[in-house]
Amino acid sequence: TSSSVGFLPFTTQVAGHLGQMTTTEDGSLLIKTALPREVAFYEALQHDKALEQLRVFTPQFLGTLRLEGQVDPAQADSTAGIIVQPLEGEAPGTVKDMSFLPRRLLNWVLIVSLQSIVLENLTYPFLKPNILDVKLGTILYDDTASPEKKARMERAAKETTSGVTGIRLTGFQVYDNITSQPVHTLKQYGKALKPHQLGEGIAKFFPLGQEIEESSPAAAPVTGADDVEMASPSTVQSFGLPLELLTPMLQGIREDIALIREVMESVEVRMVAASLLIIYEADWDRAEEALTRYFTEEDNEESEEEEDEDDDDESKPKKIGPPFVVKLIDFAHSIVTPGKGPDPGVLLGLETLVKLLDDRLKEVAP
Ligand code: ADP
Ligand code: MN
Repeated sequence: TSSSVGFLPFTTQVAGHLGQMTTTEDGSLLIKTALPREVAFYEALQHDKALEQLRVFTPQFLGTLRLEGQVDPAQADSTAGIIVQPLEGEAPGTVKDMSFLPRRLLNWVLIVSLQSIVLENLTYPFLKPNILDVKLGTILYDDTASPEKKARMERAAKETTSGVTGIRLTGFQVYDNITSQPVHTLKQYGKALKPHQLGEGIAKFFPLGQEIEESSPAAAPVTGADDVEMASPSTVQSFGLPLELLTPMLQGIREDIALIREVMESVEVRMVAASLLIIYEADWDRAEEALTRYFTEEDNEESEEEEDEDDDDESKPKKIGPPFVVKLIDFAHSIVTPGKGPDPGVLLGLETLVKLLDDRLKEVAP
């Protein structure tokens, strides 16, 4: 007998191939169909001493799955067509079962035959995640690319911001404060940007929000990425954090990117077409709480240790998420390259991003 339990299409994806990612029903984990290179890279991240510092800047890796069986021919392209079948002697799964991954999933056979990786869903702790996928590097093909693909990727780098700056804005979502819905900007936008316009793109992802006056009529709902640019002033106000939250948010994210850049300087890898995923909280109240906690904890590390004895699981307030998360993702074409030195294209991209965030900080709080 089979039961289709536990897996849903992953919907907060801002770039990449659709349909190759699923999530557990509670949303905490992602299952991504992965090429052997990506599996190998994640495994190296767990075990390779030289990559240790990089691990905290990647999603938590819970293991691999080999999914075996048949796809429902009626829905061959759809994750909805994937059926989970318990092995003999196992009760049908529930959402709770998934929290025991990966051991628990070994007891399941999926009706497809694909190697997959199980990752932490980085958006899970956020109430309203604003998400940006930035493709890193100047070279977007690896040694396995066919001559045609190599030529295509060389052109792609040359014709976009990738070639000169080491980054391309692949896609993003930003919450509308009035409708509480995320508004998506698709990859065409980032592809069309010229290097000198990258700042505009960053401003679109980090808009400066303003208090919405009670008396002003609610802005018309924004329906598509194209509308954002054409938006009327009242609509513009519905995006972004107020200055007192945007500033620390930008500073914190900027510091994390600078740290990742530092770590990337000391690891010998080639990350082809990997991304930096930047997520920050768009809900004002939650962002304020998370930022306060983030910056207080950092400043008071010592006093906190002293209070350790008082720590009691039951008296702890319910854990709220971080104000932001910055991680490297998508290692389908990444390899460990001992002796080759750091990846220059990725370093360039991270430097570009740090500069862009510095510029944005000056722009919003001169
Ligand atoms: P692809 O190989 O199809 O490009 P990616 O690994 O880049 O796949 O993932 C595609 C998108 O899915 C990303 O742009 C991001 O929005 C989302 N995503 C990927 N990994 C995670 C993760 N660990 N947590 C949350 N979202 C993720
Ligand atoms: Mn990707």
